[in-house]
Amino acid sequence: MYLVQLVYTSVSTSSMELGDIEKILKVARDTNKDNDITGMLCFNKEIFLQVLEGSRNAVNSLYQRIATDKRHDQLVILGYQELYRRDFQDWSMGFIPPSLISAEMNLKYSGDRHFNPYEMTGESALQFLKELKSRL
Ligand code: FAD
Repeated sequence: MYLVQLVYTSVSTSSMELGDIEKILKVARDTNKDNDITGMLCFNKEIFLQVLEGSRNAVNSLYQRIATDKRHDQLVILGYQELYRRDFQDWSMGFIPPSLISAEMNLKYSGDRHFNPYEMTGESALQFLKELKSRL
């Protein structure tokens, strides 16, 4: 089965505390492990940026489930590609805390000093996540 990678961004529908993110991560890590999905979730104030990788069927069906989750909306797929190997193979769902996202990082990958993946290309968003992963 093909390996694919999907990067999307979204906006939370209500204010989220760390505990709310931890609930999402707990379910994500358990479920993703069972489905051989790996990836990374980034959240800052109200915006999510997530990368999912795994078999095409597994990633497509997870994305469809995530897209109906009422905890966020305005989902935009920034990138979708076939892979020859995973970029996040050690993470059933890694988490990038807001403290790692600096104005310098935002300016490196977008024209905006604030975290705004809607202003990033798919490649910029992916490289942004990979650089943050390397700092975890
Ligand atoms: P159920 O648990 O039956 O939930 C159905 C709906 O109820 C959800 O869609 C949601 O709208 C709501 N809901 C569920 N739990 C809560 C809660 N604690 N508080 C408020 N509303 C709730 N799941 C994964 O498996 N892997 C991931 O990588 C992943 N990433 C996510 C990233 C984001 C940004 C968000 C918001 C959710 C993510 N989820 C992920 C969760 C996913 O959307 C589903 O809730 C989860 O997979 C369970 O699916 P289910 O069909 O059993 O839903």
